[in-house]
Amino acid sequence: MSQPPPLFVPDLTKPAGAVLDAAGNATCVTCSARQPVARMDVVGQGYRCAACSHKAQITALTTGQDDMSANLSAGDRSSLKRSGLALIATGVAGIVGGIALLATTGIGRYVIGAGIGSLAVGFSRLKAGGGGF
Ligand SMILES: [Zn+2]
Repeated sequence: MSQPPPLFVPDLTKPAGAVLDAAGNATCVTCSARQPVARMDVVGQGYRCAACSHKAQITALTTGQDDMSANLSAGDRSSLKRSGLALIATGVAGIVGGIALLATTGIGRYVIGAGIGSLAVGFSRLKAGGGGF
């Protein structure tokens, strides 16, 4: 008889923003206001007060900038930023290499196209990670 596959248990520890005080109040991860947890929304970082959630929704509606990064852990955001920067570097290298190849062979245009695609995915990951360079 074969062994069953090992059970994978993910890290289930609470994020720092999800800690309640003795009175059951939570701290908003955006503005640090303390309120009863029943009035808070849950985001990836912990709890967020209704006023900050409404502001984030208004910002998303008026500017098109979503608040996705508020729903990601700090590790996920830095991972997204790192992979975005790596894809941007790959895209720049692809465009430069494609231009160099263009002088000798027609394959350069495909390398340039791949570089542009890599740049686009890289910038979207960088934005999803909540930051610039
Ligand atoms: Zn708040």
